[in-house]
Amino acid sequence: MIFGHLGIAALVGSTQRDRIGSRLFIALLAASFAPDVVDIAYFVAGICSPYGLFSHSIPAALIEGASIGGIALLVTDSWRIALAFLAVVLLHVPADMVTGYKILVPGGDLLGLQFYQRPLYDFVAEAAVIVTGWLAIQRADIHMRWAVSRRVLVGLLIAQAACDIVIAGPGLHLKPNACRAA
Ligand SMILES: [Zn+2]
Repeated sequence: MIFGHLGIAALVGSTQRDRIGSRLFIALLAASFAPDVVDIAYFVAGICSPYGLFSHSIPAALIEGASIGGIALLVTDSWRIALAFLAVVLLHVPADMVTGYKILVPGGDLLGLQFYQRPLYDFVAEAAVIVTGWLAIQRADIHMRWAVSRRVLVGLLIAQAACDIVIAGPGLHLKPNACRAA
């Protein structure tokens, strides 16, 4: 999943009763990409993490979620917000299993619907999550004009469509992977 992660983070953010400000909301959006950031760090370090084993498996996501949730707890002193960060990181994994496939536990099988092989399905799935997240923050008492603007929604849908066009192109991979280079 690509921009759909933002929709999930927005959905989780919209459930926060303690009103979260712009900065925290942006941090929550950023946290939704944590496993991908870890993947890119492996690539930069030249470490092969096959099918996200060290970034997208359940043990890896728990470590990432606990680390980020822990930082959120230290910064905000709110368990509710810390749990929101944990949830956003953990939800990255099932979201990615809709669009691709992943190894959930070391030694386990590859699981996932692999919508990336059908970019139109991928676009529909991601657009549905993006729109749901956007509508959720409209309804929630979150006063962030930029986040609820139509421009942001349209921009995200265009960016997602562009990614799906790239995915549809032959042999193009959005995320670099040290395994392939090896
Ligand atoms: Zn991912």
